[in-house]
Amino acid sequence: MPEGHTIHRLAADHSELFGGRPVRAGSPQGKFADGAALIDGQVLEHAEAHGKHLFLSFPPTGWVHVHLGLFGTYTLGRAPAPPPTDTVRLRLSTEAAYADLRGPTACALITDDEKQAVHDRLGPDPLRPSDDGDRAWARISRSRTSVAALLLDQKVVAGVGNVYRAEVLFRHGIDPYRAGRDLTRAEWDAIWADLVALMREGVRNNRIDTVRPEHTPEAMGRPPRVDDHGGEVYVYRRDRQPCHICGGEVRTAELAARNLFWCPNCQRR
Ligand SMILES: [Zn+2]
Repeated sequence: MPEGHTIHRLAADHSELFGGRPVRAGSPQGKFADGAALIDGQVLEHAEAHGKHLFLSFPPTGWVHVHLGLFGTYTLGRAPAPPPTDTVRLRLSTEAAYADLRGPTACALITDDEKQAVHDRLGPDPLRPSDDGDRAWARISRSRTSVAALLLDQKVVAGVGNVYRAEVLFRHGIDPYRAGRDLTRAEWDAIWADLVALMREGVRNNRIDTVRPEHTPEAMGRPPRVDDHGGEVYVYRRDRQPCHICGGEVRTAELAARNLFWCPNCQRR
């Protein structure tokens, strides 16, 4: 499942490639044929993301709402576009660029009110400049649920996925099983500020890097991480490997239906 930085990056890429221009829209697969016909030839006015939801504005028709889910993928590029395959739910294209969406959980034309209802269901997003951590803190500070489960709950914080959850808790030395209400306000404010910074860097680089300068491969004289997710991290998918800080073994367990990774030495209750 992509994390929020990927969706914000997709919104920025849509704005850059298609924003302010009339676009051709089609659904080679057929499942979004009616919606695509309605926006075909219209101008993409604006693209934005909230958590893992992408919204493309085609006034006056409405918004295309996309959620990639577990299996959805986007391919964006400069023209010429490859011949569309029948797995493409939505293709947007201009003379200069194309975007192919495959396998999303959601791809629908929605109204302003329906879009607002999606925002209302979601918690604040560290990547939305108008959002802050207060609304999330109101829920976290009252909850007996573990902070690791709360961070993945999109109603609490939108856009954080499995990698950022594991990494931000490590960076702040917080045991993932600690209850939300046992976090201090100062700890939460630091976590939120760190998510904002880490996820912005994720949008810029299109990958997740979370190690501080003193823990990069160059600084530590260790080989770079080899993983198809890319990026230098402290604990994510590093189970049974030595912690970069204490040398102890990184552990894994299932929590909220996802694999959690943490260092029991460095992360306290
Ligand atoms: Zn450690």
